[in-house]
Parts: sequence; C-alpha cells; structure tokens
Amino acid sequence: MTMMQRIALFAIAMCWLTPGVRPSAAATVEDVWIEHVTVVSPERASPLRDAEVDIHDGRIVSITTGGSPGQAAGAPSTVTTIDGTGLYLAPGLIDSHVHLGAIPGMTNEQEARHPDIAQLARDQIPRSYLLYGFTTLVDLISSPQGMARWKDHDVVPDTYFCGGASLMDGYPMNYRPKAVRYRAFPYMLVEPDMAAPPDIAPEMHTPAAVVARMKADGAICVKTFYEHGFGTAHDLPVPKAETIRELVQAAHAAGMPVLMHASSIEAQSFGLGTGVDIMAHGLWNWNDPSRVTDLTPAAKALLDDVLAKNVGWQPTIQVLYGERDLFNTAFLSDPLLARVLPSGLIDWYRSPEGQWLHDAYSERFGGKDRDPKVLETEANRRYALPIDRVSHAAAYLASHGGRLLFGTDTPSAPTYANPPGLNGWLEMQRLVAAGETPEQIFRSATLSNAQALKLDQDVGTVEVGKRANLLLLHQDPTQTIEAYAGIVKVLLGGRVLDPAELVANRSH
Ligand SMILES: [Zn+2]
Repeated sequence: MTMMQRIALFAIAMCWLTPGVRPSAAATVEDVWIEHVTVVSPERASPLRDAEVDIHDGRIVSITTGGSPGQAAGAPSTVTTIDGTGLYLAPGLIDSHVHLGAIPGMTNEQEARHPDIAQLARDQIPRSYLLYGFTTLVDLISSPQGMARWKDHDVVPDTYFCGGASLMDGYPMNYRPKAVRYRAFPYMLVEPDMAAPPDIAPEMHTPAAVVARMKADGAICVKTFYEHGFGTAHDLPVPKAETIRELVQAAHAAGMPVLMHASSIEAQSFGLGTGVDIMAHGLWNWNDPSRVTDLTPAAKALLDDVLAKNVGWQPTIQVLYGERDLFNTAFLSDPLLARVLPSGLIDWYRSPEGQWLHDAYSERFGGKDRDPKVLETEANRRYALPIDRVSHAAAYLASHGGRLLFGTDTPSAPTYANPPGLNGWLEMQRLVAAGETPEQIFRSATLSNAQALKLDQDVGTVEVGKRANLLLLHQDPTQTIEAYAGIVKVLLGGRVLDPAELVANRSH
C-alpha cells in the first residue's frame, strides 16, 4: 500500500465507523444565574456592562442590567449563581471544519493495537475542544454512525455533520481499495457517463439522491471536493460543473449549505462558477511555479470574485502547520499539548510506530534518517511558501470585508500536529499573524459560522432564546485572542464546566 493510501485509510475511517454505542449519560442541566458580567456578543455594537443573565433548561431566558432582583429573591435552591464581576460573557465558539472519526496521528490498525491508549484519547478529545471554548463543532464528512460514536461520552460539544459527496473514484475516496471504498462513501456522486460497479445503483448517486439521503440521515450540510490530488496522486477525476450545480440546487432546496474542498485558484474558481456557499480551505496553491507570495493578478482576481459573490471562506492555515510541525523537534514537548491529550498518547507519538507519518513525509526531504534539525529546517523552508500565500490571501479578504469563517480542519491529515481544541487556538494565532483582528476572528467563530451553517437560531450570540453555550473570560475576546488561553468557565447547554475538569492528565 502506498503512503497516500495509508493516509487515506485513516481519513476514510472518519466516515465509516462501527456502531456499538452505549446509551449516553444524562447530562446535568442546571439553572444558572450570572450577575455583574460584561456581555460581549457579535450582534452588539458595544459590550453590555453589569448585566444579569438567567439560564433555564439550557437556554438564556433573560438578559437584564441594573441589578434586577430577578433570581436573587425567591430563586430555587438548585440555581448556580456565578459572580461575573470583572469577567466577560461571550458565545461559545464554533469550529465549522473538523473530522472527529479518528484519533489524530493514529490509523485504525494502530488504534486496534493500542486500545487502552485509544480509549483514554477518545474520552479526552471532546473535552479538549471545550477547554479551548469550542462548544459547537461541524464534522464535514461523517454519518449517523460516526456521530453516534462521537457523542457517546459524558461531555461532548454540540456536534453536527455534513455528508461527503465525493465524485466516484475521485478525491478523497480514491485512497481506499476499490473493494471497500463504495461502501465507505455512501453519498458519493456517480456521473451519467461513469461505469458504476455492479452492486451500485447509479440512480442512488445522483446529486438529488445523495442530498435527499443526507437530509434523511440528519446532516445539516453537504461537502464536496475539487481536487486533482497531491503527492503520488495527481490526476484524479474531478466532478463536472453541471454535477455540482445540480448538487447545489438540490442542497439549497433542502436548506443545506454546500462546502467545497478547494485550495487552488483552479478549484476555487470552479467552486465560484458552480455556486457553492463555502470554500472549506484557504488559497495556498496559486497554480503558479514562481515563489511569489504577494498576490498575483490571478490570485487577486479570484479573491475579488469571492468577495463579489460573498462566499464563505475558511483559511484553515493549520493544515499546513499540521504537516510542517511533524518535523518541529519541540512540538511533542509543548506543555500545551499535555493539556489536550493523555500522556500515554503523546508517548506513543514519540515511538517509532507513532512517527509513521513523519517518516513517510521525510521522503520529501531526503529521508527519515537525516538529522532531525536538518529535516526541521528543510520542512520550515518548504512550507513557508504556501503559508505566506494563504496568509496573504486571508489578509486580503479580511481587509476587504470578506465572509471569513473559522474552521481548523482538525486533523487535516493523520497528523498529531493538529491536536483537538489546541489546534483552534493555534489557528487563531496564524490568523492574527496574517492580519485578522481579534474581533474578526471572534465574529468568524461565532455569528458568521452560525449563519453560514444555519445554526443561528440556536447558537452564535448571547441572546434570549439561544442555547446557553457560553464562555466566561478574563479578557474581552474582541480585543485579544489571549482571552481564550485561560477560559474561566465553559457553559454547554447551561451545564457549567470548569477547565480543571476538562484538561487532560488531571489528577483524581
Ligand atoms: Zn477537512
């Protein structure tokens, strides 16, 4: 099996998970009364100071100011009161691009060989997203079975999924052996001129049929792909424009947005021409052999079209760091990593088996046996170009009113350098470095994401009627992303969570 096939095995495992689910534990939903807090919410022109927020049955039922006696008198004894003096109350964050089926850096086979390490990791990963403030996640390629397994833990962010409409034998299903790939991609598209395998009914794989099936399965969105491939696979079939136009039409009729995997000028241009709603990646492939990183006329023209059509755009800069940092000799020793992953998993990453992707990618840089410092320097040099390009593209959209959406693509490959939750914090740092303001990041991870995924009836702001997915912070998140580095409390549907109970490797 080639390396790309091994990688793909992992990627596809995300949407082909075995059921085998225990009934989930009943969550504790408390009534919560927060007083003397400053409300920071994207629909407000300025913060609301000294506010009282009343939460009942997991939703916000009132927001008042002026020391309303509301809950103080006659409040039932089960109410948790939080003194918000000096604190900010913000909506919980939404990561609109994650993959939750697999443990970052582990293949299915490796997970089967290390069930104890894997179990601890699977119990921790949902908490790690919450630890960094992510109370809502959207898995872009999943299934009802995948969601059931993910949600089978005591504390899990609110999670939604898209169905993955890959073109038959195209990216990313090409990486699976033919014997299993068709079963693994239940929502694949078969175009009229394609010869489907005997056990596949083409009429079940038209754009209208796959959208109907996703909708019936509970998906909220459609993910499709335009990718010729990379590495050893670079001539993969891509869908016809007509196919994607039909997919978009069917999805919109069903009330579902369409996201497209597209990271090149060619791919994003195709997406714009077919009416997709969201580019699920930034633009790092400029289809240009030069090493120019200032916007080329072609890149600028594409981004101007993104702006004109007001298409959502996820920079996903951490995709590139997730590959580069396999060669970062300090990455596994970062104390932040130990906050989000069990120490047993981090130890396994250091083992020869856990270094498998590092070793595979090393082939690009002269082989795994070279001095680690030399490999690190080489990787930093190779990834500088696409990182600069995607950063400049994101900055251009940020400074021209683009509809930026916060998505990390965690993990974008089976790499341990895209750790759950922490990867969002790292992405924020990349966005700031690229020129996005903390306020733009805040909006992109809250209201903009909620609107783009049609979740804004429930989440994305601190407003009466919304689900109480909230963050209590020491700092104003519209002023600094440091606000997310030390969250005071996370509220998930009104359930108050302390970071001390979310962090990995906690002592009992
Ligand atoms: Zn992805």
